[in-house]
Amino acid sequence: MTRTNRLLVVDDEALNRDMLSRRLERSGYRVVAAENGQQALEAVRSGDIDLVLLDHMMPGMSGVEVLRLLRATYSPDQLPVIMVTALNESTRTVEAFGAGANDYGTKPVDYPVALARIHSQLARKQAGTALRESQERYSLAVQGLNDGLWDWDLLKNTIYYSPPWKALLGYQDGELGDSPEEWFSRVHAEDRPGLREALRAHVDGSSPRPLEFECRMLHRNGSERWMLVRGAAARGPDGKAVRMAGSQSDITHKKIFDPLTGLPNRLLFSERLARALDLSRSDPEYVFAVLFLDLDRFKLVNDSLGHAAGDQLLVQVAGRLRQCIRGGASSAVEGGMPVIARMGGDEFAVLLEDIHEAGNASRVAERVLRIMRTPFDLDGKEVFCTLSLGIASNALQYASAADLLRDADTAMYRAKALGKARYAVFDQAMRAEVVARLDLENDLRRAIENQELVVHYQPKVQLSTNRVCGFEALVRWRHPVHGLVPPAKFIPLAEETGLIIPIGLWVTREACLQMRRWQEIYPRHPALEMSVNLSVRQFRQPDLVEQVSRILEETGLPGECLQLELTESVVLDDFEAAVGVLNRLKALGVGLKMDDFGTGYSCLGYLCRLPFNALKIDRSFTAGLEGENGNSEIIKTIMAMAGRLGLEVVAEGVENREQAALLQEMGCQFGQGYYFARPMEPSAIEKVLASS
Ligand code: C2E
Ligand code: MG
Ligand code: MG
Repeated sequence: MTRTNRLLVVDDEALNRDMLSRRLERSGYRVVAAENGQQALEAVRSGDIDLVLLDHMMPGMSGVEVLRLLRATYSPDQLPVIMVTALNESTRTVEAFGAGANDYGTKPVDYPVALARIHSQLARKQAGTALRESQERYSLAVQGLNDGLWDWDLLKNTIYYSPPWKALLGYQDGELGDSPEEWFSRVHAEDRPGLREALRAHVDGSSPRPLEFECRMLHRNGSERWMLVRGAAARGPDGKAVRMAGSQSDITHKKIFDPLTGLPNRLLFSERLARALDLSRSDPEYVFAVLFLDLDRFKLVNDSLGHAAGDQLLVQVAGRLRQCIRGGASSAVEGGMPVIARMGGDEFAVLLEDIHEAGNASRVAERVLRIMRTPFDLDGKEVFCTLSLGIASNALQYASAADLLRDADTAMYRAKALGKARYAVFDQAMRAEVVARLDLENDLRRAIENQELVVHYQPKVQLSTNRVCGFEALVRWRHPVHGLVPPAKFIPLAEETGLIIPIGLWVTREACLQMRRWQEIYPRHPALEMSVNLSVRQFRQPDLVEQVSRILEETGLPGECLQLELTESVVLDDFEAAVGVLNRLKALGVGLKMDDFGTGYSCLGYLCRLPFNALKIDRSFTAGLEGENGNSEIIKTIMAMAGRLGLEVVAEGVENREQAALLQEMGCQFGQGYYFARPMEPSAIEKVLASS
């Protein structure tokens, strides 16, 4: 039976596309049209296309890029591609042949010539297919199915595995037994329960369709292969399954490319990386490097322009990477053909092999950064999107591909931290830092139970009287080796690891207990308050309010004596939710202070909607106060605003008499700083309280 040939016409200009399509349909072909590379790839993937007419010049993915992607999966015999180029682009024709085009035509299209070329390509393809089919039929007859066969005798619980079944996993016929374990023990642990369940459902008869299951299996050579298992049950007269039999085929090649960009995926990349690592072990001259890339603003594009735009961006980034990395691969410096892979999400990786010296990877990184500077065109919208890059090479010793990849990833994060749109190299110094950080993290985990944390208290002073009227609790870590570690050295780490939650709870409880004790020792001292810092991560705990309320109850401290210090960042993410939490805290009687005021957004509009009762002027403003060119404007503005909102103001970082006097002149009531007192141990505070 001959079927109508299906042609795919790819052209970005609607007029060309329609005219060509109509003519071809009139000549008896079925035509599928695509207006860009993405659609073209989808069409090939979803329908059985016999031939592609591919426009060379298209926005986004060019024709040659599409062709390269197609050739990654289909040989010229399987899918003929005719490139269509403008007459004056003869150099492009050469490029197209290089990328695997079967033939070319010029624009404007000369229809009789085009039809002749199409006909000849299809005829050649059919001849090839017929030959292949007869060869296949012959070889099938000789050696049975290429797929492996399995036949499970459910009564005896033995399985016959055909020789090709064993060959798929690298074994000779006599080498495997007939127990089900031969099969299951080689299935990836994550896929095993699923496979067993699928088989059981068929034996039970609870699944209506034949079995189809994809799973990873371990090949004799240690590699992982993707297998497609098919099967059906045979039943006895009573309806009970007695046998189950089916096939198994290797579908690894289908699993190793990312369907969106057509690039190799993480699986293939890891395999190639492992191979490079192997090579480098036997050849000390062999230098390779991995670039790990992550888009800087992908989430923003996705959230604001939608997923389709996000996909488009990824495809275009992939195209640029290909162009800039493969395009330059001919130079001897950069060695063999680089592997460019999509690792998932907005992450890409590049394997540069045989680059002679690790420094060459930086040059490629610079080129990548440069080529990302031009805006992307997402459906007519101009979008800028930079990326950050981490480099790791076998200049350092690595035991596994995963370790090297992890370090490239770490370097990428460093590049982000340094301001994005740049690259960072994972070197000896960075490794030392990572190790030190890990050590610190481990130490910090034990710090609470080892009672290494202590709280120091810094007095808050009334500027007009110099009287102490409260304290700020500031945590310190007495490290058994490094001595007293300041919060700047471990609070950010505690934030990242979540350790801030238990630490913060401990500090709050400790500070409340301390305050309670002082109230008892100095009953005649005017009301004192205790301030405790809360970081963003602490603020986001769903049961924060309950925790604070429980601590007040357990320590017996009235809510009015506790102040929580928060920075503006707590309200940035979800303003309404933050206001809700703040109001519930306020309902406990607890005071709320905005810390480090002036350093963030400090937006008046929202400040008046938040239930704060005080704000602390950041010490950078206090520091700029005194001297000839002292800048007091900001503080004056803050004072005026706080006055209107009825907020108490505390100036941080008061270091000398002049600052204290100026602040008081401007109407600031309270101050905190080294001029009055440093953060001190409780015993030192007690001396201050006793003397006043
Ligand atoms: P912060 O809340 O703004 O605390 C004020 C910081 O300024 C303290 O640093 C204090 O020692 C310092 N300071 C006070 N007076 C002066 C002065 O006159 N001059 C100068 N140069 N500095 C002064 P510290 O103790 O190192 O704390 C740093 C930050 O760590 C705090 O900033 C706070 O954000 C955080 N932190 C401290 N303890 C805790 C805690 O228990 N929980 C949480 N979540 N964060 C804490
Ligand atoms: Mg504070
Ligand atoms: Mg502060």
